Amino acid sequence: MRYTITFQEESYNELIKYLFSDTKVERAAYALCKLSVTANETRLLVREIIPVAEEDIIEATKTNIKIANRSFLRAMKRADITKHVFLFIHSHPKEYLSHSLQDDREEKMLFKTAYIRIKTPGIHGSLVLSAPDKPVCRIWLENGNTAPVSLIRVIGNKFVFYTDLSKVDPLPVFFDRQIRAFGDEIQKLLRVLNVGVIGVGGTGSAIAEQLIRLGVGTLTIVDGEKFEQSNVNRVYGSSINDDKKEKIRIVQEHAATIGIGTTIIPENKPITFLSATEKLKDCDVIFGCTDDNWGRSILTKLAVYYPIPVFDLGVKIDSEEGKIKNIQGRVTTLLGRYACLFCRERISAKRIQAESLAALDPEQLKALQKEGYADELETPAPAVIPFTTTIAALAISEFIHRLTGYMGEDRESNEVLMMFDRTLIKRNKTLSKLECFCGDTLNILRGDVEPLLDITWRNEI
Ligand SMILES: [Zn+2]
Ligand SMILES: [Zn+2]
Repeated sequence: MRYTITFQEESYNELIKYLFSDTKVERAAYALCKLSVTANETRLLVREIIPVAEEDIIEATKTNIKIANRSFLRAMKRADITKHVFLFIHSHPKEYLSHSLQDDREEKMLFKTAYIRIKTPGIHGSLVLSAPDKPVCRIWLENGNTAPVSLIRVIGNKFVFYTDLSKVDPLPVFFDRQIRAFGDEIQKLLRVLNVGVIGVGGTGSAIAEQLIRLGVGTLTIVDGEKFEQSNVNRVYGSSINDDKKEKIRIVQEHAATIGIGTTIIPENKPITFLSATEKLKDCDVIFGCTDDNWGRSILTKLAVYYPIPVFDLGVKIDSEEGKIKNIQGRVTTLLGRYACLFCRERISAKRIQAESLAALDPEQLKALQKEGYADELETPAPAVIPFTTTIAALAISEFIHRLTGYMGEDRESNEVLMMFDRTLIKRNKTLSKLECFCGDTLNILRGDVEPLLDITWRNEI
């Protein structure tokens, strides 16, 4: 089992501000977390930071902090009542990177108490920071043993991943030109990331192509469709001979031919199946390259509940009788507290209903459409390779910005729009609408719920 943590940028910054406002003494805080559990990974989702109150600090020196029992008992009680798990956090002087022998002794008792006082099923942990960018965390298991946390994510305008890059294999020489651009740390980081790609048609195959060549270590590819000859104009890695081959197999074989050693986790089902969405809980970042509202609505929820950042891509060509009127593409970055695809009216409940009925109950859809109660679903939309490829490249360059900050540290944007016919690029930053599910703090970082994402899932096949 792998253990990781996800912070939102605002709460990590709040924590840092508190812990390091006075570096002459150690400081401590608690965090209440929700969980995301899969067969491979248990992820703590930090939801609330509670600094230890001044009156509860019995003694604080440069190398030690003593806290009144009532302080952590209160935090544990709150975790228990609100069904969270518990994280104890404290700062260290900069020369003590990790937990001390004294921490080992004291935490053994502390976490024994945590398991007694907190009934929330799951695990608890302890985080030490010797500097704002040096978090080290371990999990205290119920049996009194500890396990290391291998990755700490801080997700916001930038995506920061704290992990021990010294464990990554030496970088092959063929990454040289990229390392010259963004350094070997980012190159190594790409190696440890698991990136989801939902849909590997026009935009999705161009996304996968770039992620593989960039050196991303693991791709989780979700697509339930079979290749048709008419896709060959825009699907990277495909050939005219791939007719009726599963699209995920084309990507798998293509990745193997490229030979960089990318691990492909294939899911041969659309994301509208629970089993497919479950796999995405292991991802660090997701590219949404599906063209349906139903699939997009699931990604929209995943970005709020877990919060796994999603780059959602769209390309729309308006053509009349074979003449292009206009072409628009967009990359929308879905992050907690920013406008989701419902807020932006890019997807609608009515359309999702029509799409799900088309798959599950076509007869009922026909009846509803006849009475005007359901949307008509249009025939295949026009698609041309330069436009799908450009938007895929735009999304990947957004991703590289989130890792490196090359577009400016203070840039805030969560959508980039490209009007091809006017050679115009625009961007915007829009906050969640309060009345939307994404603006409800109860849903943000909610983690695992039953059923997953509060969705009534279709039957598995
Ligand atoms: Zn310590
Ligand atoms: Zn919303």
